[in-house]
Amino acid sequence: MRVHGSCHCEHITFISEAEPERTVVCHCRDCQIMSGSPYRSIVPSDERAFELLSGELTIYHKVGDSGNARELAFCNRCGSHIYATSKAGSDGGAVRSFGLRTGVLAEAAEFAPMFQVWCDSRLPWVSEFNALPGKPRQ
Ligand SMILES: [Zn+2]
Ligand SMILES: [Zn+2]
Repeated sequence: MRVHGSCHCEHITFISEAEPERTVVCHCRDCQIMSGSPYRSIVPSDERAFELLSGELTIYHKVGDSGNARELAFCNRCGSHIYATSKAGSDGGAVRSFGLRTGVLAEAAEFAPMFQVWCDSRLPWVSEFNALPGKPRQ
């Protein structure tokens, strides 16, 4: 389905294609640290479908827990994370997959996670969220 993304300050806007049933939660330490959250929600998107409509992405390079070189795109004005992908040219010219951060999508509510990865570093209490008392806003 078509998705519409924007960073918090709206410097970065984009459209792409992504399928909700491919949404995963990632519990790796890098996702915890870089998102500042217990885990991150990600959906893959074909590089060819990603169209930057405004702004300029900043790329942070890292080596993932998998040992692979990764490029992480974010807004250098507000810090919102947009996607992660493999290092340009590392796949022998194959089309890359962009792991879109579902929180930046206007359609985020439709991207319910279907699978979890890096469960070895999953924080022990995340499965207990549903039992917590809650309120509609802050
Ligand atoms: Zn921004
Ligand atoms: Zn991760």
